[in-house]
Amino acid sequence: MEGALTARDRVGIQDFVLLDETTETAFLSNLNKRFSKDLIYTYIGTLLVSVNPYKELDIYNRKQMDIYMGVNFFELPPHIYALADNAYHTMLTEFNNHFILISGESGAGKTEASKKILQYYAISCPSTTLLNTVRDKMLKSNPVLEAFGNAKTLKNDNSSRFGKYMDIQFDSQGDAVGGHILNYLLEKSRVVHQNHGERNFHIFYQLVEGGEDDLLHQLGLERDSLHYNYLTQGECAIVFSINDKNDWKTVKNALQVIDHLFGIVASVLHLGNVQFDSDSKGQALLNNNAETKYLNPTKIRCKRVKIPFTIDHAIYARDALAKAIYGLTFTWLVNRINGSMENKDSSRKTVIGLLDIYGFEVFYVNSFEQFCINYCNEKLQQLFIQLTLKAEQEEYEAENIEWEPVQFFNNKIICDLVEEKHRGIISILDEECLRPGDATDLTFLERLEEKMGNHPHFVTHKLADKMTRKTLERGDFRLLHYAGEVTYCVVGFLDKNNDLLYRNIKDVINSSLTVSSLSHMDLTDELLGIMTLMLCPCFGNMMESFEFHPFLGHIITGQFDEALIRHQVKYLGLMEHLRVRRAGFAYRRKYEVFLKRYKPLCPATWPHWRGMPADGVEELVQHLGYLPNEYKMGRTKIFIRHPRTLYATEDAYEKC
Ligand code: ADP
Ligand code: MG
Repeated sequence: MEGALTARDRVGIQDFVLLDETTETAFLSNLNKRFSKDLIYTYIGTLLVSVNPYKELDIYNRKQMDIYMGVNFFELPPHIYALADNAYHTMLTEFNNHFILISGESGAGKTEASKKILQYYAISCPSTTLLNTVRDKMLKSNPVLEAFGNAKTLKNDNSSRFGKYMDIQFDSQGDAVGGHILNYLLEKSRVVHQNHGERNFHIFYQLVEGGEDDLLHQLGLERDSLHYNYLTQGECAIVFSINDKNDWKTVKNALQVIDHLFGIVASVLHLGNVQFDSDSKGQALLNNNAETKYLNPTKIRCKRVKIPFTIDHAIYARDALAKAIYGLTFTWLVNRINGSMENKDSSRKTVIGLLDIYGFEVFYVNSFEQFCINYCNEKLQQLFIQLTLKAEQEEYEAENIEWEPVQFFNNKIICDLVEEKHRGIISILDEECLRPGDATDLTFLERLEEKMGNHPHFVTHKLADKMTRKTLERGDFRLLHYAGEVTYCVVGFLDKNNDLLYRNIKDVINSSLTVSSLSHMDLTDELLGIMTLMLCPCFGNMMESFEFHPFLGHIITGQFDEALIRHQVKYLGLMEHLRVRRAGFAYRRKYEVFLKRYKPLCPATWPHWRGMPADGVEELVQHLGYLPNEYKMGRTKIFIRHPRTLYATEDAYEKC
């Protein structure tokens, strides 16, 4: 009976808040229904959920952009353009800064989403010729950043291996007048090591495969990726989906003036081929191979220093140097790009910030990097819940509706476990790092076991059998995160914690991310904390002048593989978010908007209602037979407790 099917049956519901039930099954079924119709976007209130279609959809063209320009958020089907447009227009009318957080697993489509947002602004904002250059630079800098910061991984052939916060500055007319990029946590270890099936950063292959003969000769490079130790560890230097030669041309064009950059890239490859022999005392001797001589033409200043190293130590030091060189190069590059987009005009500007962060990460072996990333996500979840609750509370208060407390799992207990002063995992790690003598990763684990043994979210191998069915290896500990269990291997924790970059991040976490109670919570401080958390501390001051307003986009991926999607829905905390958003009143709309849509359902309001909109709505819902406990009238909006009430209205509307 096709005719009896409502739009809801056919294409699902475009806002999860209006689902009949808030179960995971209902959630997944709605997502699936929409996905099968190529509807990849769905809201949870103002949060946008998207499913990666892995195919080109005809929804990102100029015509679509025009449709979304300046239109009320809820009036059209959910779209990334609606989110972008809403942030932009609210920024212009309220003259404040906005912030779009994009989170999700690797391969979920975060970076694509941020590009789509940028394109939307590039096309939809007004402009003068001069201003166009800022946008051009912003769009064009992308391939360069991707060449140096992206790599093929098992999950994504073009995976960003650094976190990125980008802001676009607008003047009071809404023109894009400047931009700035902050990068954090570049995965430097990839320079010297890649897992099977993964590659080093694209730029290396682009240079070797695409570099002109002269250039390669000058840099002493072979035209053969397989010749380089640093390029072959994943055993997949050549990838079908990637055209290194073509990409080289794009990057080269964008980077014309900075040839010496390629010298540095080459020097990293040469370093990776440097070998060591051992002398009679077991100390490392620089092998007299050809590689060292090329470190000079590549304009790296060399100085010979004699330090007695074993071969292992020498290799470790060589790799550390390669990572440091590459890390500095990347930072330098980002600074250059920023220089070109800088806006020196001091008139007041507002900003839309885009934050592309790694989602929860769980690998077969999880190390310090995953520990940091997952802690970040734990903090984001905390912030997320608080912001949602706060926004709900404020809305109820502003509308004069009695505030109804919401039940939810508060992950503060896990944040405390990690960050509490003197008692948290980070404090203990720091103490071990500072303890003179024989501290090792394993003594760190012992200290954890002593101090955390009884914590409900911490499991060591000693207690593992009792608490969970799965056993743990010696050298592992397990945290029960809000999103699920993750087992961490302590090997390398002390070393990496000593790395200055991590130390800075951690200091910032400690100083700026104290979660205040809800009543004292200052939105600006919290977001500022989150921002600074992932960025280098020197930018903290700059951020202080900001007043962020959150629009959050969660992105998940798929072929519609239910288990995979279920897992991500959990890791993104979407059900929790939905429950918070749904507690109290599922639906609310401005009186004008509600009346405009449903007035044909009531003789008193059709075709015109001449009185106050609120009175018209009251008239309308009385006529529809709403019971007193099903809805509340606020100052400017009607609130409807359960979606079913609205369904009946919506069905009647479709029929009329
Ligand atoms: P992430 O940044 O989350 O790791 P990407 O944004 O790099 O993921 O996306 C991975 C791949 O998925 C892209 O290279 C592209 O092929 C595909 N993809 C992502 N978003 C979309 C989309 N909206 N439409 C079509 N394909 C997409
Ligand atoms: Mg990415």
